Amino acid sequence: MLNDADSPITSAESQDDEPPGRPSPASALSNSTKPENKSPAEPADWKWQIANRLRSAQALSQFLGKKVPPNIEKVIEKFPMAITPYYASLIRKPDTSDPVFAMAVPQPRELIDPLFLCDDPLSEDEDMPVPGMVHRYRDRVLLIATTMCSMYCRHCTRKRIAGARESSITAQRIRQVTEYLNAHPEVSDVIVSGGDPLTMSDGSIEMVLQSLRSVPTVQVIRIGTRVPVVLPMRITDDLLNMLRKYHPLWINTHFNHPNEITPQAKEACAKLADAGIPLGNQTVLLAGVNDDAGIIEQLCKGLIQMRVRPYYLYQCDLVRGVEHFRTSVRKGIEIMEYLRGRVSGIAIPTFVVDAPHGGGKIPVLPNYIVSMSPSHTVLRNYQGMMVNYPEPCIQQIPPNIQPAEQTGVWELASGKTSFVSPARHHRIKRTANTASDKKTSYLFEL
Ligand SMILES: *Cc1c(COP(=O)(O)O)cnc(C)c1O
Ligand code: SF4
Repeated sequence: MLNDADSPITSAESQDDEPPGRPSPASALSNSTKPENKSPAEPADWKWQIANRLRSAQALSQFLGKKVPPNIEKVIEKFPMAITPYYASLIRKPDTSDPVFAMAVPQPRELIDPLFLCDDPLSEDEDMPVPGMVHRYRDRVLLIATTMCSMYCRHCTRKRIAGARESSITAQRIRQVTEYLNAHPEVSDVIVSGGDPLTMSDGSIEMVLQSLRSVPTVQVIRIGTRVPVVLPMRITDDLLNMLRKYHPLWINTHFNHPNEITPQAKEACAKLADAGIPLGNQTVLLAGVNDDAGIIEQLCKGLIQMRVRPYYLYQCDLVRGVEHFRTSVRKGIEIMEYLRGRVSGIAIPTFVVDAPHGGGKIPVLPNYIVSMSPSHTVLRNYQGMMVNYPEPCIQQIPPNIQPAEQTGVWELASGKTSFVSPARHHRIKRTANTASDKKTSYLFEL
């Protein structure tokens, strides 16, 4: 848990107030942007959505028309709840079999606390040269720009920060960040994260972006946000007109289930993409929500239709309060095995385990390398077909090898045969007796 002195936030001002007594870069620009609607009264208005978030067991019971267990209050005391009415409206069945319900509604199971779970499983707090800014990889930093989200995901990896208070970075803190970045020209990529940075006012977001852009060595700015999923009406024309001044700007969002792909979410993503912002998606693998190859397939196909590229599929972090969501690593490998060859390559994310102790993200794939010899690497494809890839030293292999009497991995590794294929596969049947079949047999004789 961040204590006050180490908090990224030095002021508990409300979101919309500029830090007092200090002209921020944003105020200089506020003339060029239209003032935001100050009296929201419409569900289509994002400020209305934030003002009307479900924050108590009572409000939740009222909304669902069903009494929620009273022990949920105890969970809310430890890990705050907030659900936008928009996101709550996506609940189809008010129990944990519903993915949106499971991701948004507190569960007594969050209080299960095995020894190997901790508040800060990625050791982020140890890698903060400036409070609220994680510098882990040489060329990239991650900035916690706010502790607020419009919806508090029950599976959040930053449960220690998100919602503990709701306040955003001050002008003073962002100045410390830019000083650090100016002194560290090796950092070329800044991830603005939180909390959810797009819950901040346009002015506060602009203060952050403008400060980062003032550092000449910062090339790419990324924003990590769940707003397109839980508060899509936040993507206003004013916001887009402001964001497009800070290109190259990338956005990574966080869709976990096809039920989150709604007409409103599609519109939000379309507007962002039309503003020239490349969109990626980070999904967390969650037991009972999306730990199913078919669901991930449907999700990834839905994402690319919205011009959102599936970026990472995360193994659940070892964070206190999410034990009931954890799956085995095997599950992720199984899903990756399923996707390859079945789904467009642009719809396939990288499955990663974010290493405990601050080791960073580790990609995990099914095993595609079957064997290796000094002359050949033996690989398998998604169908079980095995091929060899000759090393550049191929001239050392004796020419005119006879076709092998039997085929297996050793024949591949020694270069006696070039591929071993499941003979009954539909693709093999389809290409039988065609020109490509002849080419295949030529390869076989090589
Ligand atoms: C995930 C992460 C990044 C970005 O990693 P990419 O693989 O470049 O997306 C940078 N810093 C921290 C601390 C992170 O957790
Ligand atoms: S939006 Fe992100 S930071 Fe906020 S609760 Fe969800 S996962 Fe955590």
